[in-house]
Amino acid sequence: MSNQPAVESPAKPAQTRLVPMGRSIIACDPAPPDNASMIFAARNPATGTVLPTRFQAATRAQVNDAANLAWKAFHAARATPDADRAVLLRTIADRIKTFRDDLIPIAHLETGLPKDRLRAELERTTGTLELFADVIEDGSWRRPAIDTGDPTRKPIPKPTLRKMLLPLGPIAVFGASNFPFSYSTMGTDSASALAAGCPVIVKGHPLHPGTGEIVAQVVAGAVRDAGFPDGWFSFLHAGDEREHSIGTELLGHPCVRAAGFTGSLQGGTTLAKFAANRPDPIPLFAEMGSTNPAFILPGGLGREPVGIAQHLARAISQFAGQQCTRPGLIYVVKGAHAAAFIERLILELRGVAPMPMLGAKIRKRYLERLELLIDLPGVRTAVGDAGSIRGSSDRVAEDRPTLESPVLLRTDANTFLAHPTLQDEIFGPASIIVECESAGEIIECAGLIQGTISTSVFLSSEDLAAAEELVDILTQRAGRIVFNGVTTGVEVGCATVHGGPYPASNRPETTSVGPGALERWCRPVTFQNAPGNLLPPELADANPGDLLRTIDGSARTGPI
Ligand code: NAP
Repeated sequence: MSNQPAVESPAKPAQTRLVPMGRSIIACDPAPPDNASMIFAARNPATGTVLPTRFQAATRAQVNDAANLAWKAFHAARATPDADRAVLLRTIADRIKTFRDDLIPIAHLETGLPKDRLRAELERTTGTLELFADVIEDGSWRRPAIDTGDPTRKPIPKPTLRKMLLPLGPIAVFGASNFPFSYSTMGTDSASALAAGCPVIVKGHPLHPGTGEIVAQVVAGAVRDAGFPDGWFSFLHAGDEREHSIGTELLGHPCVRAAGFTGSLQGGTTLAKFAANRPDPIPLFAEMGSTNPAFILPGGLGREPVGIAQHLARAISQFAGQQCTRPGLIYVVKGAHAAAFIERLILELRGVAPMPMLGAKIRKRYLERLELLIDLPGVRTAVGDAGSIRGSSDRVAEDRPTLESPVLLRTDANTFLAHPTLQDEIFGPASIIVECESAGEIIECAGLIQGTISTSVFLSSEDLAAAEELVDILTQRAGRIVFNGVTTGVEVGCATVHGGPYPASNRPETTSVGPGALERWCRPVTFQNAPGNLLPPELADANPGDLLRTIDGSARTGPI
């Protein structure tokens, strides 16, 4: 590492193919074989067949090593110039692109997600790394602030205060099953933590262990070549009986100073409690499930009922509905336009071919949820067969394909208001239409929705009065409000908010996507009357003469 801004990434590696070895990566090195390791394998969800690689779940000793070495690495390299970390981020991005032909096929086999979608997700992941590199090169992300002192102030001298964000330390990352690149090994949590100056320890997701490990191999090589200490990055395989315990061992380790989680409400809540109950509680940023409701106001619906139905059908069913931004609730006002809209939505969803869900466990959870909903009084099935849904969760078997077709449920506002469970996420290709009597009833429903990552409002100029009231409510409930569009497809940029009030996230004051994510891994520190040579460079420039006076005590503050 150097003190000069470096502009070129270290040379690309000579290897031409990467394959999973089935080993965790501890401090940039593959873990040696260990007889104490539990062995697990991944399955192809589209067929139910077991994939060839045998993965060794990380042992307790390996978790411990990863955390201790991350701690050492943090102390060795936490003052690294932003420019050097930018090089690291760009090197990782370049190499992920170099190895895309190894990554896409294995991610496709492990998740059942289409290759085109995985290619787009990989681009988003490398684009995020590059964006973060650009952001950290301009030091303003650390929010430096200086209050100039006045030693002559009466009755007490005013001290010089200098403040900026400094990294927290090693970060544990828990990724989600449905985004094997952009919310996984080098997804937004890992990328933002590295950008902020924190070492990263990833808990691999058991539903895409091979993909996770290959990305980890790429990252480990880049960390080494960019001159960072080996402990800067580790990746722990988790599966079989060690599926949950590795996560809690990692989260409970004293050297881990914060964590990022993306996944289910149940997992996020459990792990957030665990982090809060440590002897020294640490922050855990949990991004969880959402219903992403679509509010279709009468004028908006009248303008293009068919177009809205087509867009929503795609957003509901794409990738077997396994997107955290999938619209799970749709509100319309009854009438001719609503009838045309619903008819078209039914037609579109019936035309969607069955698609594999990410794994048997996820499929089972999805079917259990549908079983509960279809038997609520006042809920009807518009797409899908209630008879075949009943009891289907009991028939889920690991060695069978996880194929599911879209389901659409219909209900009215009174039923919606009476059954809070209708507001919980359905993670799969299903959505619920709530038919309301008036725009006023839509607004009443909006007043009761849970916190959500995103929401849509479809409107025209005729709806402005109702829209004003609705949007005012939604600003208190959602991280992102989309007008005349669907919530799926997240643009990563400086103005992106991906989060929202609970249960979308446990930390509504921040975002997990976009440069705002970096601040989660830092805390502000004030340097009062600090000598210039003891300040971080970002704060040292201003008025060094004033600072030097503090060394001989002439500008010290008086008693307060
Ligand atoms: P998940 O089952 O909660 O798993 C997420 C991660 O947390 C996995 O690594 C899992 O490891 C770990 N985990 C969960 N419970 C745990 C526990 N009690 N103890 C220790 N580790 C635990 O979620 P998923 O099925 O992968 O993902 C689907 C969910 O993620 C959906 O609800 C979706 O909406 C949400 N999601 C949200 C976003 C967002 O940005 N808000 C993005 C993508 C997905 P093990 O499997 O090893 O236990």
